[in-house]
Amino acid sequence: MKDDRFDILLTNAVVLPMDDEHTVYPDGCVAILGDSISAVGPKESFSSARAGRVMDCRGGIVLPGLVNAHTHAAMTLFRGLADDLPLMTWLHDYIFPAEAGLTRDMVYKGTLLACAEMILSGTTTFCDMYLFEDAAARAADEAGMRAVLGEVLYDFDSPNYGPIEAGFAFTESLIQQWKGHPRIVIAVEPHTTYTCGPDLLRRSHEIAEKWDVPLVIHVSETLSEVEQISSKYGRTPVGYLDGLGFLCPRLVGDHCVVLTEDDIRLIAERDVKVSHNPESNMKLASGAAPVAGLLSAGVTVGLGTDGCASNNNLDLFGEMDSAAKLHKAVCRDATVLDAFTVLSMANRNGAKALGLSRLIGSLTPGKRADVIVVDTQKPHLAPMYNPASHLVYACRGSDVDTSIINGRVVMENRRLLTLDIERVMSDCRALARKITK
Ligand SMILES: [Zn+2]
Repeated sequence: MKDDRFDILLTNAVVLPMDDEHTVYPDGCVAILGDSISAVGPKESFSSARAGRVMDCRGGIVLPGLVNAHTHAAMTLFRGLADDLPLMTWLHDYIFPAEAGLTRDMVYKGTLLACAEMILSGTTTFCDMYLFEDAAARAADEAGMRAVLGEVLYDFDSPNYGPIEAGFAFTESLIQQWKGHPRIVIAVEPHTTYTCGPDLLRRSHEIAEKWDVPLVIHVSETLSEVEQISSKYGRTPVGYLDGLGFLCPRLVGDHCVVLTEDDIRLIAERDVKVSHNPESNMKLASGAAPVAGLLSAGVTVGLGTDGCASNNNLDLFGEMDSAAKLHKAVCRDATVLDAFTVLSMANRNGAKALGLSRLIGSLTPGKRADVIVVDTQKPHLAPMYNPASHLVYACRGSDVDTSIINGRVVMENRRLLTLDIERVMSDCRALARKITK
């Protein structure tokens, strides 16, 4: 690597590239040129390297930025507004009424707050479903984050676009507007099988195929949803979607908690991706998704936080810890969802789920430079035998020290460089006073 010149060189790091071989460089370096990873390896191979900036990681862990495979970012505004309620009561009596008063400005400010929280806890990419996604996309772009975003579509009128026909037009115009952007991708996102009829679902699938973008839906989140769809259509939600030709490799199914063996087989056969949201599923008492079964069927499973109103944070480190432990308890088997598997769900498999594995998910030369540095100079992280174990079972989001997205440093020494965090928080506190009026 003699005479190589880089923009950024991360040194003195335990590097986890998250490659197929599960490589760990105990004393490694990561080199970045422009927006991409240029080289990764042991420090010896960088002895002659020159870089515009050398960042000493002080023995910390360097890994691919985390991917939040499912959230509703602007729901930061409703964090703690209504807790300890069943999903349908929570949704119909609290969340839908609060969302009826939602504005574009609220979504913009709430999403900025979410981006701040996500960057500060090691997330570099998120998949969002909400209203006024033009404002969410603008916020994600300003924060310097990578995001897949889709306007939520359902059969009743939306406070944003009105009737569903306008929702399709809104989605297609967003797709056109952001096409070719280096970090922002627009997806097609019908809400769920009980709020979207067959026509809406077929049209959504067609639009996603036409523009070659991801398709995202909440599916089989609760037993009551499965019962409702089964009594209406005579099939489980997954079987019903399959009958519509909706199941396909570009589809991300959020939750997938209540699944039959046939559902798992269909999801695997159609190469549908799954976003697992254990803390939201626990908090809303929906149950535990059969993740061990999905993984052994070969399904790609990413990890998400869901919205802040049902979690109540966006910290994927907490989510990894919860996922690893929940399934051990449910399966009564300590070997399921080991640390490396869960860590993979939070970066490389999340990237694959969102159709981004060509660009991100591992520290591979040529991929975009979405990289985080975890500070291990802390009592709860000493000593360190196995970095993957620490990341899943001991680290918190607040241990992330530095974050780079698309080659740009967006946080350094825990200081956000893209957002005025005091202003973002005070804007959201002012909105909260109106929400509770
Ligand atoms: Zn959700």
